[in-house]
Amino acid sequence: MQRVHNFNAGPSAMPLAVLQKVQAEFLDFAGTGMSIVEISHRSERYQQLQEETKQTLRRLLHIPDGYHIIFLQGGGSLQFVMHSANFLRRRGAYVNTGVWSDKAMAAAAAYGEVYEAASSKKDGFSYIPRLTEGAIREATDYLYITSNNTIHGTQWASYPKVSVPLFGDVSSDFLSRPIPIERFDFLFAGAQKNIGPAGVVVAIIKDSLVAGANPDVPAMLRYDTYVKHDSVYNTPPVFAIYFIHEVLQWLEREGGPEEMARRNERKAAMIYEVIDDSDGFYRGHADKNSRSRMNITFNLPTSAYEEAFIRESEQHHFVGLKGHRSLGGCRASLYNAVTEESCTALAQFMKTFRKNH
Ligand SMILES: *Cc1c(COP(=O)(O)O)cnc(C)c1O
Repeated sequence: MQRVHNFNAGPSAMPLAVLQKVQAEFLDFAGTGMSIVEISHRSERYQQLQEETKQTLRRLLHIPDGYHIIFLQGGGSLQFVMHSANFLRRRGAYVNTGVWSDKAMAAAAAYGEVYEAASSKKDGFSYIPRLTEGAIREATDYLYITSNNTIHGTQWASYPKVSVPLFGDVSSDFLSRPIPIERFDFLFAGAQKNIGPAGVVVAIIKDSLVAGANPDVPAMLRYDTYVKHDSVYNTPPVFAIYFIHEVLQWLEREGGPEEMARRNERKAAMIYEVIDDSDGFYRGHADKNSRSRMNITFNLPTSAYEEAFIRESEQHHFVGLKGHRSLGGCRASLYNAVTEESCTALAQFMKTFRKNH
């Protein structure tokens, strides 16, 4: 078996130690004589596992009392619908930083008035726009942001302070760095970018927000259903939650989001340095002060070069360096589980490729 250098954007690399543990106990979960996928979600053993998952997440992110942690299905995309179905009563404000916020805003338009409080659309989403004075209109229910823009490779360096509830799609940088939870009323992350397999979304939601939600929403689409039933109103994605449990344990052993932030900073710096020192051979898509530590987007002089780059990278066991179809070019995703060794190897490959071409 040869494991590759995995730079996939999502689903993406998972920690090897976690994959091995999951494999080792797949036939017999915690001495039950059953696989994790064979036990009841109502069993005491599963309940304990889910509770531990929540407690570990609470410790890792210092989640204050007054916030619920819930597990949902339907991916990040269903949250585009749910946040607005539940909380858009008058107007929703959006910072448009790319494909995902664009989609969230489009979905929300079905439930009320939406507007862009700021946008970098006209500049190809190459930066995080500033929120100017007066950007948030009166009677606005919330401001919605996307903390890391997986496709365009930009990331909020720090979060805005606003007078309305702040909502965050943190799918692609969740647990990659500390986050001031108390500044948000609602956060969600699809697991498959940084914390587990596809099929589950982790949401952190303020109790007071849930209490004020629109009551005319079907049960499966209401956050209070998940809160009241502790995410087991119906069968939760047991395997995905178990997997997250293992990733969180790994994260805690490794030093948590604080240590991940230091590693991710070093990893990203290696690749950006190659881009910046390449005399324009590699051109980063994002403005320097908006650069993502998770997804590095770049172009080569022509698309023929880019094709050659992808082809040669694959011959050298690098995977996932092709850019998203909507943007083109190249992209390297450096989630928590991508090792510094893989990043060193990629930086070296990029230098060599440039020299040879
Ligand atoms: C991938 C992604 C989504 C969409 O996730 P799905 O689970 O495919 O619906 C939403 N937001 C961000 C920031 C993402 O990276």
